[in-house]
Amino acid sequence: MSEPAARLETLAARVAELEAERELTLRLAQTDSLTGLVNRGAFTAELCARLDDAREHGRSVALFVIDLDRFKSLNDTLGHHAGDLLLAEVGERLRADAGPGELTARLGGDEFALITEGRDVAARAQRLLTKLAQPQTIYGRVVSPGASVGVAVFPDHAADAGDLQRFADMALYRVKTRGGRRWSAFDAELSAENARRQTLEAELRRAIPGGEIEPWFQPVIDANTGRITAVEVLARWNHPEQGLLLPAAFVPIAEELGLIGQIDEHIFEAACALAAPWVAEGLIESISCNVSPRDLLDPAFSRKLIGRLARTDLPATALTVEVTETFLLQDFALARRHIERLAAKGIRIALDDFGTGYSNIRALMSLPIQTVKLDRSLIEAVGRDARVSKLVSAMLHAARALGVRIVAEGVEHEAQALFLRAAGCDRMQGYLFARPMPAAKVEAHLRGSPLIDLAMPSTPALARRRHG
Ligand code: C2E
Ligand code: CA
Ligand code: CA
Repeated sequence: MSEPAARLETLAARVAELEAERELTLRLAQTDSLTGLVNRGAFTAELCARLDDAREHGRSVALFVIDLDRFKSLNDTLGHHAGDLLLAEVGERLRADAGPGELTARLGGDEFALITEGRDVAARAQRLLTKLAQPQTIYGRVVSPGASVGVAVFPDHAADAGDLQRFADMALYRVKTRGGRRWSAFDAELSAENARRQTLEAELRRAIPGGEIEPWFQPVIDANTGRITAVEVLARWNHPEQGLLLPAAFVPIAEELGLIGQIDEHIFEAACALAAPWVAEGLIESISCNVSPRDLLDPAFSRKLIGRLARTDLPATALTVEVTETFLLQDFALARRHIERLAAKGIRIALDDFGTGYSNIRALMSLPIQTVKLDRSLIEAVGRDARVSKLVSAMLHAARALGVRIVAEGVEHEAQALFLRAAGCDRMQGYLFARPMPAAKVEAHLRGSPLIDLAMPSTPALARRRHG
């Protein structure tokens, strides 16, 4: 072979190599490494392409979103490796079951998807459920996780990929809230809900700059004196037609729309401005603000909060930030960085809703947390369920030993307050003392008399005699 020809050949070989490498990189970028299925990015692109094609040829396309039931608990009890094995097996079953022209994908976590044609949707969904419900053995244990499926069809339900995914998700969510292990398609009921949500979305976008969302305050009481020592800031929406809306009616949708950051920022600034004089005059020690789980996932969260606080007259030591444990454990390293940064400024951290999750006490104890808020579900059972009462007593005892302050939330009955106080809990919050109220009203209380005079006898025996 002549020299130029040989050179050309090496060059061609090199080009082929590069081509293969490029293909591999491309394929890897499009596949989920655990299951080998298409990943979310590639799936969305493929869904758009298929809808374009269907539009052109007058065909229909069905989207199935699949979510495993009880995956989280299996993952927690059997470990992450077992969880991975389970996900890989589900991927394998979906692949083996897929017919020609169908596309299966892993969207992330325990969520999968199937794109197929829009005919015989019920039969296809049923087959999918049956396949996924078959038991499998992991580490010698037979598990059958089962799945829930939500379906939306183009063009019957939605005209584009975004709506199709959203509607299939809505159908899935409905199945999940009704216990799972079933499939459901988008329908008139969900369509009406979607319309309601869209109205709410438009109203919410207008409400934030319009000042319709404002901070209310719920007093935290010193059980020994009945005096207010702190207030928790709770958002309320003064809706022009619907009246006063609670966070449950708008916080979840605001989170979904990415508007919760704006709401929290507004509530935070307004609350600090209102409460700074109360702190300055010594009427309360501190105010507590809730932060959305989403906020803590923002790497700049703590820096932003410190910056915002500096623009108000509230001293850092008078601010408590309430975070929930479920959320802390989601990205513990990041949460730790935020919490340590806030603590370094003198801001206090409270662990909210304590007693509702699977507490990883050891991890939590490694954080600079000064306050733990016992969840209403525990307080509700106090005095009614002897085991819960004992547990709460033990928690209070442990908290004292660790120098952690406990606030009991959702105290509604005097008997609960008496029990808690006798067990050594001196901070309480709940309807027994005061409901959340607007700034003007809480200020009147702060300047007036104690909210409630429990006049509680100091020993449990006396308490029983007086109230039992
Ligand atoms: P949370 O932080 O656990 O707040 C306590 C909730 O319990 C409040 O509900 C309060 O009104 C209610 N509560 C207090 N005492 C009692 C009682 O004795 N009995 C009963 N049944 N309930 C009581 P609310 O105001 O509806 O807030 C619900 C949740 O919304 C809050 O739970 C908090 O997680 C979230 N939230 C409230 N405001 C904001 C905010 O500005 N930003 C963010 N991100 N979340 C907020
Ligand atoms: Ca709270
Ligand atoms: Ca709480």
